[in-house]
Amino acid sequence: MDKVSLTINNQKISADKDMSILSVALANGIYIPHLCYHPDLEPVGVCRLCMVDIQGRGMTISCRTPVEEGLVVRTQSPQIDKVRRLAAELLIINNDPDCLTDTSNNQSELRKIADYLGIKQEDLQRLRYPDRKVSVDTSNPFFDYDPNKCVLCGICVRTCDQLQKINAIDFAFRGFETRVSSFANKPLAESSCESCGECLIRCPTQALQSKQLPDISRETKTICPYCGVGCGIYLGIRDNKVVSARGDTDNPINKGSLCVKGRFGHDFINHPDRLTSPLIKKNGKFVEASWDEALELVGKRFSKYKGDSFAVLSSAKCTNEENYVIQKFGRAVMNTNNIDHCARLCHAPTVAGLAQSFGSGAMTNSINEIDNAGCILAIGTNTTHAHPVIALKMKKAVSAGAKLIVANPKEIVLCRFADIFLQHQPGTDVALLMGMMRVIVDEGLLDNDFIKERCENFPAFMESLDNFNLDFVEKTTGVSRKKIIEAARCYATHKPAGIFYAMGLTQHTHGTDNVLATSNLALLTGNIGKPSAGVNPLRGQNNVQGACDLAALPNVYPGYQKVDNPQVKNKFESAWGCSLPGSPGLTHVEIFDAIYNKKIKALYLMGENPIISEANARHVQDAIGKLEFFVAQDIFISDTAKFADVILPAATFAEKDGTFTNTERRIQRVRKAIEPVGNARADWWITCEIAKKMQSKGFDFSHPSEIMDEIASLTPSYQGISYERIEDIGLQWPCKSREHPGTQFLHAERFATKDGKGKFMPLEFKPPAEHVDNKYPFILTTDRSLFHFHTSTMTRRVKGLEILDSQELLNINPQDAVGLKISDGQIVEVSSRRGTIRVKVKLTDICPVGVVSLTFHFAEVRTNVLTNSALDPVAKIPETKVCAVRVEKIKEEHEAGL
Ligand code: SF4
Ligand code: SF4
Repeated sequence: MDKVSLTINNQKISADKDMSILSVALANGIYIPHLCYHPDLEPVGVCRLCMVDIQGRGMTISCRTPVEEGLVVRTQSPQIDKVRRLAAELLIINNDPDCLTDTSNNQSELRKIADYLGIKQEDLQRLRYPDRKVSVDTSNPFFDYDPNKCVLCGICVRTCDQLQKINAIDFAFRGFETRVSSFANKPLAESSCESCGECLIRCPTQALQSKQLPDISRETKTICPYCGVGCGIYLGIRDNKVVSARGDTDNPINKGSLCVKGRFGHDFINHPDRLTSPLIKKNGKFVEASWDEALELVGKRFSKYKGDSFAVLSSAKCTNEENYVIQKFGRAVMNTNNIDHCARLCHAPTVAGLAQSFGSGAMTNSINEIDNAGCILAIGTNTTHAHPVIALKMKKAVSAGAKLIVANPKEIVLCRFADIFLQHQPGTDVALLMGMMRVIVDEGLLDNDFIKERCENFPAFMESLDNFNLDFVEKTTGVSRKKIIEAARCYATHKPAGIFYAMGLTQHTHGTDNVLATSNLALLTGNIGKPSAGVNPLRGQNNVQGACDLAALPNVYPGYQKVDNPQVKNKFESAWGCSLPGSPGLTHVEIFDAIYNKKIKALYLMGENPIISEANARHVQDAIGKLEFFVAQDIFISDTAKFADVILPAATFAEKDGTFTNTERRIQRVRKAIEPVGNARADWWITCEIAKKMQSKGFDFSHPSEIMDEIASLTPSYQGISYERIEDIGLQWPCKSREHPGTQFLHAERFATKDGKGKFMPLEFKPPAEHVDNKYPFILTTDRSLFHFHTSTMTRRVKGLEILDSQELLNINPQDAVGLKISDGQIVEVSSRRGTIRVKVKLTDICPVGVVSLTFHFAEVRTNVLTNSALDPVAKIPETKVCAVRVEKIKEEHEAGL
C-alpha cells in the first residue's frame, strides 16, 4: 500500500494513501467529532461535524477528504468549533427536547459531542420546533426505534443496505417529517427487518435502543451455540445471568457480525424451565433426586445392558470433549458401537460421499474464502435462514463481482442476489448437476490437466454421463435447457468456483449420490484444492463437525479411524485399557428400529429430541415406549425426555468449558461464563461420573483440557490442538503437530485418498422413494426459519424469537390454494402415508405449484410425523426432504384446536 506523509495538529503522520483525513486522525488518537461516519461504511458527510482546516484550502469535511502528501491539517480552532457548533445545534434542535438531559441517553454520541462543544440544553430551547413528538416503534422485541432521537445520519440505513444487504429500512417522508422507516411505514416487527441488530450497535444517538439490560458486570468470550458457522461472541453477565451478547470483532469468521439468534437468542440459559436437579421417575412421576442417588441408579441399571442391547445417542450441541467422553463410555464401558447422533439426519451423506471422492468428509475450504470466489453455486441450502453469517459473505462476494447460482426447489431469499436461479423439482439434484456436467464436457469447459494429473476413474464417470442428455435432464428437473447451459458455463468459467450445500442436498434416499455429484463437478473443472473453490457442506448445528470428528458415529473412532480395522482397534484398546467391539454398530434410524424390535433395551440420550427431529416420528415414539431403561441428559425436559426413567440436568454452553468445531473445521474455545443453574452439571462430568460408578478407569478428568489432550494423543487430525494454542483464535484441522498452523483448505497437493487421487464417481438418476399420486398429490419438503433452531427447545424459550416467529405455517402456492379452496391463515389437515397434522396455511409463491413446505421447529405441529424414514443405503439418512402429502380443508375450524 502506498504511503503519504501529512501533518495533523503539528504531528507528522504516515498513512495509507486511500484513507480519509478523519480515519487517519482517529487511528492516531486525534479526536474529530463525527456522527454520520462509521469505519464499516462508505462516508457520506451529511452531519458536517468532522470539519477540519487544511492549510491553503480552508475548511472541509474530513470523512470524505483523502490524505495527500504534504497536507497540513488542523482539527481544532475557534473558527472550526464555531462551524461545528452551528451544525450540532441544528441537529439537536430537531432532536428530542430532552436529548441533552435524559440519563438513559448518556451513551449517545450526540450527547458527547454536545459536551465537547459546550452546547447546553437551555441555549437551544428558544430555537426548538414546538410540538414535534413522533411515536416510538416498540414493535421489535429486541430494540426500539425512537424517531425523536434520530438525527438522520443514515448509519442504520447504510448498515442495512451496504453491510447486511437487507434493505429493510430507508428514509421516508419529506422535509421536516423525514424519518427512517420500513417499506410502507410498517412497524419493524412486521417489516422485512431480520432483527440482526447491526444497525442498533452502530446508531450514534440511541434512536435505536436495545431492550436488553445495558449494565453488565463482566463479559466472557465464547462461541455462539446455534449454527455451524461458529461466530465468536462475548456474553454480557450480571448477577450470574447472561443478559446480553455482542459479536467478537477479533473472531476470524464473523469479525463481529451476528444474526438475530447469536445476538439476542440467549434467554434460554436462565429460563425458569431449566432442569436444576436429577429426576427419577417413580410411579409414573418425576421426583427430584440427589446426584449420588441418580448416578448410582444409572450405573447399576446400565451394568445390566452391556453389549449390543445398549445404545448411545450423542449430541451435536455438546462440546468435542463431551462427544469424545460419551463415545468412549459407549465403547469402552458398555462394549457397543451402537453410537450415533443427529449428523445421521443431516450430513451423513457428506461424510460418506466426500470420503469416497476426496478421502475426507468435511468442508474443503474456509468461510472467508467466499470473499474471493469467482462463482458460488448454492444448492440445497437456504443460507440466509440456516447460516446467516455465511449468507452475508455470499451477498458481499456478489457485490464484489462474484456470480451466484442458486439451485433450490423454493424461491428462497438468496435468489434475490442470484445471477441464475435453477428451480428444480425436489429430489432431482443428481440430474441437474450431471446435466451441467454434460454441458461442460460437450463445450470443452473441463480442466483436462487437472483431471489427468490429480483424478482417477474418469472413463467410468464419462460413461455414466451418457445417460444425462439435456432432454432427459430438462424433463426430470423441470429446469429449462437454456438455464442449465447458462449455469454450467457460468460455474465452469468464473473461477475459482465454490459449491455450497446443506440438507436440501443430503436428506434424500440418494443423498450420498447428490454429494458425489458435487464432487464430480468440482473435479471436472479443477475447482478443488484451491482457495475460494471446493465442495463446502454447511453443517447445521454448532458442533456437528466436532461430534463426527470425535466419533459419535457407529463405524469409526475419533478422527474417522475405522472400528473394524484391527490395528486401529488395538491402538484404542491399549490406550483405553479395555477390549472393544470389532464391528460397526447401528445408525440413528436403525437404533430406533432395534429398540422397536426389543433388540436394544437401554438408551443413553444426550441433548437430542428425536421424537420431534426424526423422520416418521410416531414410530420413534412407539419405539421409545418399549425401552426397559432410558436415561435422558438435557437442559430442559424435552418432548423425548418426558419418556425417560431418569433425567440428568446438563449445563448449557455458557456454563462450561470446552471446544466446538465449526463447519470449516475450526476448533474454537467455548468458555464458562456463569455457574450452572441449580444442580446442573456439564455433560462430560455426568458421563465420567456414571463411568466411575461402574468402576471404569480412564474417566478421571478434572477439566475438559485434559480430555482434549487425550483426544490429541489418539486423533491424527487433532494432534496439534491444545487449549493453549486455541486460546485466542481457533485452528482448522488437519493440525498434525504442535507446530502445525492448521489447514485453510484441503487437498492442495494431494487428496486424502489412499493413492492421493480425487475419484470421479459414476452416477445414475434415482427418483425419491415416494411419488405423488391422486391420494397424495403434493410434495412436502422441509425448511428452516431464521428465528428458530432445530426442535426449538432453546429458541422458543427466547421470548423475542417466539414473538417474531410463533407458529408453524404450511407454505403453499396461491394457485394450489385456489384449487383446494383454502385461504391464507386457514387451518388445514396435511396427511402422508404415515400420519396427519393440522397447521395454518401461508400462501406464498416461494413454493412452486405442487410443492408445499414446513419447518420442524414447533412441537405442537409435528412435521416429522409426516416425513418418510426411507433410507439412503450408504449413509442411512432418512428422506426428510421429499414425501407425498394430501392437503385438506377442515370443515369445522373450531375443532382444529390451533
Ligand atoms: S436490525 Fe438488521 S435487518 Fe433490521 S433494520 Fe437493522 S440492519 Fe436492517
Ligand atoms: S450465523 Fe450461526 S453462529 Fe453466527 S450468530 Fe447466527 S446462529 Fe450464531
